[in-house]
Amino acid sequence: MFRHCQHTDVRYGTMTTRKDIDQKALKNKLLSHRQEILDDTQTSKESREPVELDQTSVGRLSRMDALQDQAMALETNRRRHVELLHIDAALKRMEDGTYGYCLSCDEEIPEKRLEIDPTASVCVDCAR
Ligand SMILES: [Zn+2]
Repeated sequence: MFRHCQHTDVRYGTMTTRKDIDQKALKNKLLSHRQEILDDTQTSKESREPVELDQTSVGRLSRMDALQDQAMALETNRRRHVELLHIDAALKRMEDGTYGYCLSCDEEIPEKRLEIDPTASVCVDCAR
């Protein structure tokens, strides 16, 4: 009764998991980087202090320093957040089997590029 069920290869698109890249190693890299960012976020949260706004005790310059520090901390957090998004997106593509292919032109992203930046989602040409 299963005779009619002989499917031809179900191949939507041409995507397959690339064999020429060490996806496992790249995945470990992504995961450990992810952990580092999470650890960093944790530590900076603990060390972040509210900006002292009392000008008589801290003085104008140091108050500005404090505000600047806070702005920098926020910026760092924003970058970490973006980085996390990139990492998660790359991990998702690994699951999908689309990792290593340019999101824009479907070409394979060179192994060297992935080694430098495992979150790379487009090839060098499309990144320009
Ligand atoms: Zn491309």
